[in-house]
Amino acid sequence: MLEYAKKELVKYGKLIIEAGLTKGTGGNFSIFDRESSLMAITPSGVPYMSMREEDIVIMDLDGNIVEGDLKPSSEYQMHSIVYKNRKDVNAMVHLHSKFAATVSTLRKPIPAVDYLVAFSGGKEVPIAEYATYGTKELAENAMKAMGDLNAVLLANHGLNVVGPNMMTAFAVAEQLEFCAELYVRAKSMGEPVILDDEEMTMMVKRFENYGQKKE
Ligand SMILES: [Zn+2]
Repeated sequence: MLEYAKKELVKYGKLIIEAGLTKGTGGNFSIFDRESSLMAITPSGVPYMSMREEDIVIMDLDGNIVEGDLKPSSEYQMHSIVYKNRKDVNAMVHLHSKFAATVSTLRKPIPAVDYLVAFSGGKEVPIAEYATYGTKELAENAMKAMGDLNAVLLANHGLNVVGPNMMTAFAVAEQLEFCAELYVRAKSMGEPVILDDEEMTMMVKRFENYGQKKE
């Protein structure tokens, strides 16, 4: 089932490690197949570099396993709530990337330190209220804070990025982790200048057609 999604998840698992966006088994990713209403999600505790297509778990949006021998990621609810609420989203990455996670410990958004923050779909990457990992509460907090945007920070935890497909979600995650790094580094020397709302509104419009839409 969903062979294309399994292939993509295995491929992007390696790319995400190579890009330095997470380590070992940290984070989790999924692809949603709108036609069948099923989600392909990475398994719990399998290192991305050795993950195989048969390790991917297929689930419905109510949390039932439809195919797969392994346990799905403990954050599956955080993925399914997004597919239930967002018709424009077919892929999601949840990462423990170093700099986004660093900012998340301040429980503050990533402000517009660079125009690339507009890849979030807004003038900043918002921060969700803290909840224990793997809980329904965390899924709800993340969904609420993200709203119609493409990304959200999870307090003292990491970053979620969504997109029309895996390629876009991955590319946006790389850009936002770069912005988080700029913010952390700039803060170590002084107070960065934040781009104004007018500039960021224009950038958001400009980025709206970024990436490849799902065919
Ligand atoms: Zn996590």
